Amino acid sequence: MKLVRFKIGEKGYSGVLEDNHIVSLTTLSPLIKCSIPQNLEGFVSLDPEILGVIENHLKDLNGDSKKAATHNIEYVEVLAPLINPPKLICLGLNYYDHAAEQGSKVPDEPIIFMKPRTAIIGLNNPIIKPNFVDKLDYEAELAIVIGKKARNITVKAAEQHIFGYTILNDVSARDIQFKDRQWTRGKSFDTFAPLGPCITTTNQIGDPTNLRIRTWVNNRLRQDSSTGNMVFNVYEIVHHLSRVMTLEPGDVIATGTPAGVGVFMKPEPMFLKPGDRIIIEIEGIGKLENSVATVS
Ligand code: MG
Repeated sequence: MKLVRFKIGEKGYSGVLEDNHIVSLTTLSPLIKCSIPQNLEGFVSLDPEILGVIENHLKDLNGDSKKAATHNIEYVEVLAPLINPPKLICLGLNYYDHAAEQGSKVPDEPIIFMKPRTAIIGLNNPIIKPNFVDKLDYEAELAIVIGKKARNITVKAAEQHIFGYTILNDVSARDIQFKDRQWTRGKSFDTFAPLGPCITTTNQIGDPTNLRIRTWVNNRLRQDSSTGNMVFNVYEIVHHLSRVMTLEPGDVIATGTPAGVGVFMKPEPMFLKPGDRIIIEIEGIGKLENSVATVS
């Protein structure tokens, strides 16, 4: 399933994204013969078997009741799938092509940092450029959503601990990032973590070690790579991180960005300006779109 959180008026719902429609699980829950979690945090920690039962019930529903619970995506507000993850962990320098574009050696162990959850925004919410930031940049990233607590787990066992995948834009203020020589301040501003539009469950993602990942800025293609270019793949990442910290249901792990970020554009850098629209697409998940705005 591609799980989404959305709003109509002031009311919030959970649903399943199917093409350009969202089927509201909140509306259908009385008709589905097992208890449906109230929110996506509840889904994330569900046993995969129960998730399968919900999927099958959805398929079996008759046309009229499903139709009554279906909304065109254009007419609802899609929210970030998770707004309060226990942790939002990110990897740096995790693509061979991104390391090459900046002349860096790839690390022999994952380089990690964290973003605050207060930076999270959803589809179509504006990325706010602070007036003292000049070098604003995007980074398209596949994000892992942890489903089952993980501590000291092997690469082989990692898959069982992953609930699904979403997209994260690791928005970065390069001037601050390079001045501080570490990443926290430059990547932690409010709105610097667009997330979504959905969480694709592991059974529907295909092979997460070979997904196409692309970014457009104002319809110009900037990043075009594959998760196959990762230095550490999603399973190796979960293994390495679980040796450091306990991973918990709902944790989000952004897995690094490929080549094509603005700061390393040739012949000169191209940073984001107010009004720019960034679209990130990852195969099996969808498109995460946000525009840049200034402080009002
Ligand atoms: Mg990044």
